[in-house]
Amino acid sequence: MGLTMRERQAVTGEYRPRYHTATKKGKQALLDKLVRLTGYRQKSAVRLLAAKPPKATAVYIDGRPVKLKSEKSGPYFWTWRLGEVSNTEEYPHTASMKLIVLGSGTSYGIPVIGCGCLVCRSPDTRDKRMRSSLYLAGEGGEGVVIDTGPEFRLQLVRAGIRRLDAILLTHAHADHLHGLDDIRPLCREHPIPVYTNQATLKELRERFSYVFHETQRGGGKPRLEPLLIPPRLNIGGLAVTPIPVKHGTLDILGWRIDEALPGKRVSAVYLTDTSALPRASRPLANEPDVLIIDGLRMRPHETHFSFEQALRLGAELKARQVYLTHLSHDHSHQEIAAYCQAFRENHSFETALMAPAFDEQEIRLV
Ligand SMILES: [Zn+2]
Ligand SMILES: [Zn+2]
Ligand SMILES: [Zn+2]
Repeated sequence: MGLTMRERQAVTGEYRPRYHTATKKGKQALLDKLVRLTGYRQKSAVRLLAAKPPKATAVYIDGRPVKLKSEKSGPYFWTWRLGEVSNTEEYPHTASMKLIVLGSGTSYGIPVIGCGCLVCRSPDTRDKRMRSSLYLAGEGGEGVVIDTGPEFRLQLVRAGIRRLDAILLTHAHADHLHGLDDIRPLCREHPIPVYTNQATLKELRERFSYVFHETQRGGGKPRLEPLLIPPRLNIGGLAVTPIPVKHGTLDILGWRIDEALPGKRVSAVYLTDTSALPRASRPLANEPDVLIIDGLRMRPHETHFSFEQALRLGAELKARQVYLTHLSHDHSHQEIAAYCQAFRENHSFETALMAPAFDEQEIRLV
């Protein structure tokens, strides 16, 4: 994780206090970028920018200190630059695999229809949870999506995604599959391969039978190529490995994606809708840089991991970072974040980070 060169440049901007009303717009744009990237409230960002130069102010992005530097670039104004990452050793190049959490919610989606609980009414955008899905982009621009839930179109538009080389399906439950028809704008040039296991392929052909039958011309149907996943598959520079897992009594798939970047390999493991990781699957899920794992709620559930089960497994697998997904409305993002942090500290796990995932979260593996 960390800022890429592009993100560093994105928050460079000019702020000219007391002078030139025309620069108000520039100030607002810089403020908006600060708020978006740092999670600061607007008020704090205003205070930050109003601080007199040349004092450098530390801000934190992804828990890492980033310096806000001011430079006097004229008699009456300063240019503020956000971007001196203090520990540059960790970011020797900008090559990265990028993960975008398209959705982090359980099958109902949060807010739940008709629910007036505190989480469903929360103003925190991280408490708005669409159905669980993940997009992965490789260094070469390759893009794969894991699952196509009911909000698929909204999720792709929201994330600005334009490229899809393959769809990986975990299983055929409605909250993971029923947005599949929305891929039509992405398969005009060629059919999109859909990889999954035998049971899900069968369900897919039944649920979307119209896709595979001859119908009148001009009807606009998705062009799919359903394929049984081999034990290992390369999509551009991404090495994809299916991980058999248990979802209650169902046999479904988790996924591991590895990419060789200059000088190192990075890996992400995605285990949604999981209640057990069979022994034979453990080596496939071992030691990922990032593990995104089903953590439905605090209480145990027959077909999903609880927070505790998920975090313990993450530590056993020696994941560097663990994020919980498929979250219910039992707890807010803040509450789950506090729980994860306390759990990690109390057990002195080596895992560097345990936290809830949230919609639109971007995780970079550099
Ligand atoms: Zn689900
Ligand atoms: Zn609720
Ligand atoms: Zn499910």
